[in-house]
Amino acid sequence: MTPTILFSAGAERFDIYAAPLEDALRRAGLTPHLVTEAAPEAVDYIVVAPGSGISDFRPYTRCKAVLSLWAGVERIVGNPTLSQPLCRMVDTALEAGMVEYVTGHVLRHHLGMDRFINRPLAGWDATVPPLASERPVAMLGLGALGLACARALTGLGFPVLGWSRSPRAVDDIACHHGVEGLSEVLARAQIAVTLLPLTPQTENLLDAAAMARMPQGAVLINPGRGALIDDDALLAALDAGHLGHATLDVFRTEPLPDDHPFRSHPRVTVTPHIAAATRPETAAGVIAENVRRGEAGVPFLHLVDRARGY
Ligand code: NAP
Repeated sequence: MTPTILFSAGAERFDIYAAPLEDALRRAGLTPHLVTEAAPEAVDYIVVAPGSGISDFRPYTRCKAVLSLWAGVERIVGNPTLSQPLCRMVDTALEAGMVEYVTGHVLRHHLGMDRFINRPLAGWDATVPPLASERPVAMLGLGALGLACARALTGLGFPVLGWSRSPRAVDDIACHHGVEGLSEVLARAQIAVTLLPLTPQTENLLDAAAMARMPQGAVLINPGRGALIDDDALLAALDAGHLGHATLDVFRTEPLPDDHPFRSHPRVTVTPHIAAATRPETAAGVIAENVRRGEAGVPFLHLVDRARGY
């Protein structure tokens, strides 16, 4: 079997993905035919990333699936020309990176590390931080990434309150869903982590009213998507001292403009969308497995539900 795979995720990525993808396709029993240009009607699969260049999928009449290198698909899922199945990326390295980012930033705030880093110690305030077991953390989103982070945090002893769209039951995690569930989770969380996809239902989810429900001094960590948060409401909550800090990895506009108030705010930490990256070594296997499935006529992995938007 020699399906034609159009790599439309940028020339720089092609340089690092070509060899791992060809290896993974061979391991999947396929003859690699990976191209960066092709007549649309000759293409069997398209590998995409945001800004990949294809905006009209209609000419790709033979294409069996569009395979995203990114977990978040908000920039492609609503494309009205896309009628082919869309699969998103679920990758072990993406999960590992997100677990490291989230646990690192949760521990920073939990332990109050900022008091001691790059600052001469003033006096001898020997206040000992509480144990993790006394610090409830909200995980908004219990999907591939949220669940992996929630499990890592429970492993460290944090009580985790999870929130998802549909009801979930997960050992050691207090699972909630729906509007009332969100209120309860936010009201109890001293640290809230947002790992939700951006959809019409989640846009501006963390608005002034939602932030007002959080306890005084609570911390927000957002490696999900920038538009989950109402920026002005967040700045107001931080300025009023209601929220203690926000650690933000994703923004409505990326790169974050130089003059954006988040950049200079003393209670905001900005990281440049580096929480978790798809790694070619592991992601290539996910792409190859979906091509194998497409050729064998079996259901794709990580299929995006267009109606849900994720
Ligand atoms: P996922 O597996 O699709 O999980 C999404 C979770 O969000 C699910 O638990 C889902 O609920 C929940 N959800 C969706 N809509 C909801 C709603 N309206 N109300 C309540 N819960 C809702 O996604 P993932 O792989 O974990 O990735 C999550 C997001 O992380 C991505 O969409 C992307 O935006 C972001 N991300 C960021 C980076 C970075 O470097 N910063 C890297 C990768 C991904 P159900 O369980 O009920 O379906």
